[in-house]
Amino acid sequence: MTDADIPEDHPRYESLVTRHRIEAGVERGITSRQGLIAQGRGEAFDYLLGERTIESADRAARAAAAHLLLAERPVLSVNGNVAALVPGEIVDLADVVDADLEVNLFNRTDERMQAIADSLREHGATEVKGLAADARIPGLSHERAKIDADGIAAADVVLVPLEDGDRAAALAKLGKVEIVIDLNPGSRSARVADVPIVDNVLRAVPNVTRHARALRDRPRAELEAIVREFDPDDALEAAERAIRNGSFADDRE
Ligand code: ATP
Repeated sequence: MTDADIPEDHPRYESLVTRHRIEAGVERGITSRQGLIAQGRGEAFDYLLGERTIESADRAARAAAAHLLLAERPVLSVNGNVAALVPGEIVDLADVVDADLEVNLFNRTDERMQAIADSLREHGATEVKGLAADARIPGLSHERAKIDADGIAAADVVLVPLEDGDRAAALAKLGKVEIVIDLNPGSRSARVADVPIVDNVLRAVPNVTRHARALRDRPRAELEAIVREFDPDDALEAAERAIRNGSFADDRE
């Protein structure tokens, strides 16, 4: 089965596409079986949020775009779920904001690192980091701590979609600006982020790219103002409110 076999008028179209891509990712050795569980958790939150980009997530995506454009050394971290769900979209975003792509896996194996790097290259990436693994995130156990010295270790702004909470917290301690995409506003990753985007990675990555395209010719001062005015706590509260108010049933936020 391919994405094209899923009828576009199906009421759960996006969720079926997501499941299918994750399943295909597992079959191709890109996504771990743990990744299937993470997807299930995400899907439940997406359902509660109405399977749409809520207004506060759109504002977060805009702030993320401004951060990435202002950054000296932005890096986009790619794990098995991101590689299965949005390989072309993450390569596009890297192009627009001139960021590096770095593969980072919770369950790191050489085969999976290679499969993901190959898939990103097939989607147009010229350079993929993460394979050198010549630096460490302090405070984490060996495999999970591996990063590239000239990648995430040297970055000033990092986008970590669907990051494990422990590693997100350790990265935040390194003093980097951390942008997290996570459907669960209560997850540790979302809570430690400077910019939590509570949205499906499927919608959020192209949305950040759209904002970056719109903002890239704007003066620095304007981008700095967007960054300054963004409040992560407000964004998390708005997402929690959307869930509590039953935004899956109507448009209240
Ligand atoms: P915590 O951050 O609280 O420690 P965790 O590290 O245990 O949580 P994982 O299960 O490793 O979390 O990561 C999965 C996270 O990714 C969940 O919070 C889930 O909501 C989120 N997630 C899964 N699929 C998607 C998706 N398609 N888009 C955005 N977020 C997703």
